[in-house]
Amino acid sequence: MAKDVLCEVNSCRHWDNGNKCSAERIYITSTMKASTSTETDCKTFEVK
Ligand code: SF4
Repeated sequence: MAKDVLCEVNSCRHWDNGNKCSAERIYITSTMKASTSTETDCKTFEVK
């Protein structure tokens, strides 16, 4: 489990109770040069 990751995306199959992420690791990217957190994306996301 990815440690110390808090995530509110409960439509992801890796999401677990308490806003935890059950993925072994997570991969974060951005489609542009990010300047705010909203411009980053979790590529490990998989829809439930
Ligand atoms: S894989 Fe990404 S979107 Fe899914 S629960 Fe983990 S951090 Fe959240």
